Amino acid sequence: MALAALFTFLGYQPLWADPSSKRVRNAGIDSTGTTFVSSNANISITSEFPGGRMNRCDQISDQKFSITIKPERNRINDSAWYAFRVDSIDQDEVTIRLNYVGGTHRYDPKVSRDGKTWKATPELVTRRHPLGREVELTIPLDGKPIWVAGQELLDDSALEDWTQQLSERAHVQRSVIGESVQGRPLHRIDITESENPDYVFIIARQHPPEVSGAIGMMHFVEAIASDTEISKQFRNRYSAVVVPMVNPDGVAHGHWRCNANGVDLNRDWAHFTQPETRAVVDQLLKCRKVQDNSDAGQRLSLFIDFHSTFDDVFYTNPQKSDLYPTGFTENWLGAIQGRFPKYAVQQVENHNADRSTSKAWVAGTLGVTAITYEFGDETDRKTIRSVATGAAEEMMRLLVDLPTETSKPERVAVKANAPANF
Ligand SMILES: [Zn+2]
Repeated sequence: MALAALFTFLGYQPLWADPSSKRVRNAGIDSTGTTFVSSNANISITSEFPGGRMNRCDQISDQKFSITIKPERNRINDSAWYAFRVDSIDQDEVTIRLNYVGGTHRYDPKVSRDGKTWKATPELVTRRHPLGREVELTIPLDGKPIWVAGQELLDDSALEDWTQQLSERAHVQRSVIGESVQGRPLHRIDITESENPDYVFIIARQHPPEVSGAIGMMHFVEAIASDTEISKQFRNRYSAVVVPMVNPDGVAHGHWRCNANGVDLNRDWAHFTQPETRAVVDQLLKCRKVQDNSDAGQRLSLFIDFHSTFDDVFYTNPQKSDLYPTGFTENWLGAIQGRFPKYAVQQVENHNADRSTSKAWVAGTLGVTAITYEFGDETDRKTIRSVATGAAEEMMRLLVDLPTETSKPERVAVKANAPANF
């Protein structure tokens, strides 16, 4: 109680100021988190915030703790997400052992003092298990809260602020296209100045920890919404449709991979069993609606799905595939390489082509070029900004130069449940 009073005096209300929270309040794997208070009450560690993940916390000594990190389900991609906040008084540092169950260390820590601005701090890792089963972080403390996470926390509310800011431009509209399993809204942004546009469809964040991909998506989309000459030309002919957060439940719960039903959404693009993938595919199909037989209807011209992996890479359709727009992938990646000669544009053809991914489904079922655009987990954020902006401008340049609709090829028939065996 004395500690709570001190925090109140300092104008800071820790989440655990409630005297009923003694040591561990653990409401299960999919709760918003758990809070641990040290035996001398000088240190509190919590994951009770959107994106937080700490499955268990044990005290080893006065200034040493062990945090257990587990995935939301068994047998999962090894992308062990963690995020917690440390509050303290009268402590210089704390040592936290991250103990991974069902995965290994992937993300070196980022820290924040306000939960919004982040800094990469790999130097906090002071010991590593050779097989990555655990690491020790030594975290300096100064009495102010410190957030520690695998990547920047880019949650629903941060995306909401971003879409709100974008939509202050006359050519940007926001709408809601459905709900996640747990009822979180799925947002759509439309960026266009055309009455009868063709479409570029962009999605991100099917996989919750893939924050660098989400950052890339934001810069990419900002370039499309900007006041440059090429973006105005683009918007006069095209609409960019963006679903920036496909898996808000997974992000809120700090999942490693899945939505609230424990389903990997980017393996659900054949049967569409989840509300998130169904909502997105409904919008996609509307964007390729044929209005009459004269072929004057709108068409989908390109699909891009932003993700993160160990390095920057484009997962593309096979080179010889007969997709619209013809040759787009080669021309686009070549243009990006030409623009950034010192940056290695990497392409992997036909990645996961036999799985039920968005890319395989859009290409195989709609006959449209579909690209999974991956940014590296640790790619410098300034590099992400410049490359994503440049990539957007080169995409717009190529699409603006495409012949107009009279020369469009036949559309591919839609089979909603077609196997993604492309
Ligand atoms: Zn992914």
